[in-house]
Amino acid sequence: MNPVRTCVGCRQHGNRADLVRLVSIHGLLSVDSAKNLPGRGVWIHSSLSCLQTAIERSAFSRALKVKVQIPEQVNDLAKIIEQAE
Ligand SMILES: [Zn+2]
Repeated sequence: MNPVRTCVGCRQHGNRADLVRLVSIHGLLSVDSAKNLPGRGVWIHSSLSCLQTAIERSAFSRALKVKVQIPEQVNDLAKIIEQAE
């Protein structure tokens, strides 16, 4: 049984293993590379387009129910996401 999660960017469903978990740490959007930090998290594909879509829609703050700051270097975050895969 594969737990299914929804990507906050493209809204497609995916296996938990195929998505990266992001959480708010002190109000800053951060990668939960171990996928086990407590609290609310959002799931996203390790793709820059999903990341940009989510940012354009303010999807992170909405999904996390807290105003979350996006790191200024979004491309860096995308790289971290890709590495966390
Ligand atoms: Zn996606």
